[in-house]
Amino acid sequence: MIIRKLYRFEAAHIVRNCSSDRCKYSLHGHSFRCELELSAERLDRGQMVYDFGLLKRHVRDFLDGFDHATLFWERESADFRRSIERHSRRWIRLPVSPTAEQLSRVIFVGARALLAASERANGDEAARVHSVTLHETETGCAQSFEADADSLEMGRIDLARVVFSPTVMADWSDPKMWEKLLKGARFKTPATAMQIPARRA
Ligand SMILES: [Zn+2]
Repeated sequence: MIIRKLYRFEAAHIVRNCSSDRCKYSLHGHSFRCELELSAERLDRGQMVYDFGLLKRHVRDFLDGFDHATLFWERESADFRRSIERHSRRWIRLPVSPTAEQLSRVIFVGARALLAASERANGDEAARVHSVTLHETETGCAQSFEADADSLEMGRIDLARVVFSPTVMADWSDPKMWEKLLKGARFKTPATAMQIPARRA
């Protein structure tokens, strides 16, 4: 079974090496919509694939990091990178070009890592990221699955090279969330109190 949660963010990017002059030479923005799909073959103690309430902290903060941010490739010129980092408070430096395709892969790998680092206290161990669909416009989107996220041919998504600006991190409920994730920390999740026993006695 698959469940889907929709996130929205407004972000700016510049897409190098594409055919459109407007996309490759000018910073511009989109109202992105991101569909995060989780799947499981069995349900948790609340009879859900995964409790959306548990996504509210780390995964939501991660995606909120993209909001009003300038997303740029680490291979931009030093001059370009410095000017963004100096004159814009919210930015994310990425190991890949910020196309819808690559952003969906970055979000897949990030959400998967945050989920893997989150304690499973509700019998929801089976839940995993199934796909990430990133809508860049009303008519165009990119959807990535695990094989895409891990494809070396498409460029390795090394989370240590996904760098959030200090202002982005300061807005998170835990400004050290990314640093902790990279160090292999485990995030606690609240266990649900059972009002009705899972099985009839
Ligand atoms: Zn664009």
